[in-house]
Amino acid sequence: MDEQTFLDSCPVTELKGVGGKVAEKLARIGILSISDFLFHLPFRYEDRSRLVPIGALTPGESSLFEGKVELSEVVFRGRRSMLVRLSDGTGFITLRFFHFSKQQKEGMQRGQWLRCFGDIRGSGQQAELTVMHPSYTHITEQQRGQVEEGLLAVYPVTEGLNQGSLRKFIKQAYHLVEQGQGVRECLPASLTARHHWPSLGASLKQLHYPQTLPTADVNKVPAFQRLIYEELMARHLSLSRLKKATQDKSAPRFDPTGDIRHAFLASLPFCLTAAQQRVINEILLDLAKSWPMQRLVQGDVGSGKTVVAACAALAAIEAGYQVALMAPTELLAEQHYKNFQAWFKVLNVNVECLLGRHKGKIHQLITGQLAAGHIDIIIGTQSLFQDKVVFSTLGLVIIDEQHRFGVDQRLALRDKGLQGGLFPHQLVMTATPIPRTLAQLGHADLDLSTIDELPPGRTPVTTSVIPVEKRDRVIERIKQGVADGRQVYWVCTLVEESELLQCQAAEVAAELLMGALPGIKVGLAHGRMKAEEKQAVMAEFKQKALDILVATTVIEVGVDVPNASLMIIENAERLGLAQLHQLRGRVGRGQRDSHCVLLYKSPLSNNASERLSIMRETTDGFKIAEKDMQLRGPGELLGTRQAGFMRFKVADMQRDAAIIEQVANDADEFLTNAPEQVEPLIHRWLGNSVEYVNV
Ligand code: ADP
Ligand code: MG
Repeated sequence: MDEQTFLDSCPVTELKGVGGKVAEKLARIGILSISDFLFHLPFRYEDRSRLVPIGALTPGESSLFEGKVELSEVVFRGRRSMLVRLSDGTGFITLRFFHFSKQQKEGMQRGQWLRCFGDIRGSGQQAELTVMHPSYTHITEQQRGQVEEGLLAVYPVTEGLNQGSLRKFIKQAYHLVEQGQGVRECLPASLTARHHWPSLGASLKQLHYPQTLPTADVNKVPAFQRLIYEELMARHLSLSRLKKATQDKSAPRFDPTGDIRHAFLASLPFCLTAAQQRVINEILLDLAKSWPMQRLVQGDVGSGKTVVAACAALAAIEAGYQVALMAPTELLAEQHYKNFQAWFKVLNVNVECLLGRHKGKIHQLITGQLAAGHIDIIIGTQSLFQDKVVFSTLGLVIIDEQHRFGVDQRLALRDKGLQGGLFPHQLVMTATPIPRTLAQLGHADLDLSTIDELPPGRTPVTTSVIPVEKRDRVIERIKQGVADGRQVYWVCTLVEESELLQCQAAEVAAELLMGALPGIKVGLAHGRMKAEEKQAVMAEFKQKALDILVATTVIEVGVDVPNASLMIIENAERLGLAQLHQLRGRVGRGQRDSHCVLLYKSPLSNNASERLSIMRETTDGFKIAEKDMQLRGPGELLGTRQAGFMRFKVADMQRDAAIIEQVANDADEFLTNAPEQVEPLIHRWLGNSVEYVNV
């Protein structure tokens, strides 16, 4: 076997500790060969070189600390959990475990010393320190203070495979490299020489075992740069290939007179913005071509993407084809259904929806009508693409808020629509800003349209940041607002890790508001309610039968109630900027001035405080996305981001704009000098791609 590429073809079972069962789990995260281990890259690092006295721990940071067990108990507070109180003479901290074995419980004897690492949180009025599910080891009193570990890489894991075992396997794989076993160098020598990059082996060493914590400009470090470049080159080459393959396919050509569309637009109570018109024209041009459209429409929340989608749908319908509109949640699917029904009824266009609750006879009826061609546009979730659902003449697939769907799913959808050698057109809509750089990346397989204008008459949302202790003042403000005819969202966000707890928090908040605001009608919507219940509550809110809607983040996507003009978000300090922006986009949709109150729990970490300030300062989704990137903590730099629809291991579409440019410039040289490396490079970075479970 070729020594230079030995590890690429060597199965994982050659490593110590990897049997058939473990190999199966590894395969789930795309690790089949030993070199796949080397390319299983960390997404952040933990600094375990510094031991922090408990009294000096800061909420919001991840730290290493030691302490003696003072008390250990199993409690039932909504959910069974084990609480372990530690002290080291400088302060106290409580460890909290939701999942624990008998053995773990018995290990928490009073007087036992532990060394722990985890995210420190301040909770409760006294800012008592807690940490959920820390990683920990038992130590003896003599071992105190003897910290050996430095920076520790944190890897994407999967169920049944923890960080510890992954680290061991990766170490073994890396030792083989040190002993001279090869992984394929996919980059042509001319390129590595010109960019002054270290060898692949040396670069991998620095990623897995860095000496210093990488900072925000990690892409200036040659080893990182090289791997970022490789990943982007792989993506570039694969996207160009994909795009070419798409253009070689055939699709039905729609060249409608536009009569139905004009009738539809005339029926709307508003005129399209110039940006909407431009994007609709771009779509119509695509639809008139003989190969399948692959177009992404990006537009900030509230920019009016739905109307654009409706116009595209009418072009297909007028040509006698069917349209499928897929939303990420049932709630949103149902909302689209209501909209399209109201819009299209007068046009004699047949709209149906297919949801999870449509079982048995109803399901049969709808799918039967669909197959017979009686339905023009069908709206639903992924379930639209089950095997049982058959179309008569599917011509256009519209995917809303697509960052929730992967590229693979999207392609699978397209292939499912294949009929008589013709593929359906695809239109994808997203509110997540796609960085400008993406267009450069291999003439990305999707063409991009941007709705860069909000409908007129919108006043930007005013945002205030208020500590939760002043909740009473906020409730007073709600009272005045409601008296003034406003409708209010009260959003309960992830309080702890579990959805159940989040729903309970929403129930508690609803109770509290009902108690504090007699005579004001409060509704509740959360993820544990049945779809119909949720929908009924949403409908009541929309019809103004409710003043306040208490909800979990189920409302994040697509909920549209223009009369709602006040939003309160609890635990705002725990949310990412992108999510806060999505949530806030639910208000500011009507004619009235709108307000958003971000409630936080003190003390705020510097980072959290800066994030909340940005929300106060701007409502521009693109600026917010850029800040989001800058504000990531040290060590949290790799691959956790998705650029709309792509998941990267090391690259970042915003940070790495300069490298993307290099890639675009070098691609031809690569293809000329190393055509045989194209396939291995793509395979290495994208080949076994799967969704990771981050634990
Ligand atoms: P998003 O882009 O977030 O999906 P929607 O399509 O839900 O936004 O539109 C938000 C709101 O703006 C809806 O109530 C919609 O009817 C309205 N709207 C869309 N286009 C216009 C326009 N050109 N003028 C005024 N209102 C519009
Ligand atoms: Mg929308």
